[in-house]
Amino acid sequence: MSDRILMDNFSRRVDYLRMSVTDRCDFRCVYCMAEDMEFLPRQKILTMEEIYQLAKSFVTLGTRKIRLTGGEPLIRPGIVELCGRISSLPGLRELCMTTNGSQLARLADPLFEAGVKRLNISLDCLDPKRFRELTRTGDLEQVIKGIDAANRAGFCNTKLNCVVMKGRNDHEINDLVSFAIDRNLDISFIEEMPLGAIHEHSRAESFYSSAQVRERIAEQYTLIDSAESTQGPSRYWRLAEAPQIRLGFISPHSHNFCATCNRVRLTVEGRLLLCLGNEHSVDLKEVIRRYPDEPEQLEKAIIDAMKIKPYQHNFQLSDDVQIVRFMNMTGG
Ligand code: SAM
Ligand code: SF4
Repeated sequence: MSDRILMDNFSRRVDYLRMSVTDRCDFRCVYCMAEDMEFLPRQKILTMEEIYQLAKSFVTLGTRKIRLTGGEPLIRPGIVELCGRISSLPGLRELCMTTNGSQLARLADPLFEAGVKRLNISLDCLDPKRFRELTRTGDLEQVIKGIDAANRAGFCNTKLNCVVMKGRNDHEINDLVSFAIDRNLDISFIEEMPLGAIHEHSRAESFYSSAQVRERIAEQYTLIDSAESTQGPSRYWRLAEAPQIRLGFISPHSHNFCATCNRVRLTVEGRLLLCLGNEHSVDLKEVIRRYPDEPEQLEKAIIDAMKIKPYQHNFQLSDDVQIVRFMNMTGG
């Protein structure tokens, strides 16, 4: 196991890597993608072997947690095998995945066996018609079957992710809480982030704050502020009526969590993004392709990249596109 660590210029230890394994997706969620998206050609994206080699270098440099995401990670061929290889890297504590759940009915068991420890599953509403509207192509029943398959496969601490939009799904907040309680799942409510240009709705108009979500929940449940925190943007609460589950609130419009930020993101093009809300990045695909047999070159590039990790992001509440990357390119 490695005793090396990655440190940025603000003395923050970076030990969490989110890797996007594809920019493609079987859904077209209205807050994430435009309806007619162009995806990257194959030669521009990292091969599965390159993704593995990058994961290995990060773990050598002290990364303890990796989350695979996308796009939809489960639609990339070879994903289960990749999970098996990454989860076996000595020193890695946790391999997690964020998924839309559409493929879980088929893949929950193999993923669990491949060493994936935890899943975040996106679920924005429980009405099949509205689910189709928000995802443009998604089938709610298939996703719920996937969630149940994950529970049966043995995944623990599974978390639902819900992006709340005023007038679209805010009236389903308490139904989602009750769904989470019934299945013993944590649930996080996310404020929409201004990533990528969309025309389907006005992000400023559909903004629904975490404080508003808590007000809604307080109409039916007793919320208890919990001191629990990860180093991420979530703040956690519990319910007096169902203390076994956690409620997270992800408020990217506040930047209180930047001081303890421990994460970086790798796009499927091999670009290392040092901050979700800034463009500071380093092209690691170029390095891995130029020096395919010299992992020390890749490690040096990763160590050097830490020097440009910005202190914080600053999203504004408006419809101006502040970051041109879409979330599927960013690896949410
Ligand atoms: N396809 C997988 C999924 O949906 O879970 C993984 C990738 S998706 C980009 C990761 C997470 O980002 C999802 O929970 C999704 O709801 C969230 N997301 C996408 N676009 C967003 C936006 N503009 N603001 C906030 N969250 C967003
Ligand atoms: Fe696909 Fe996830 Fe984006 Fe929805 S949020 S379009 S499921 S990548």
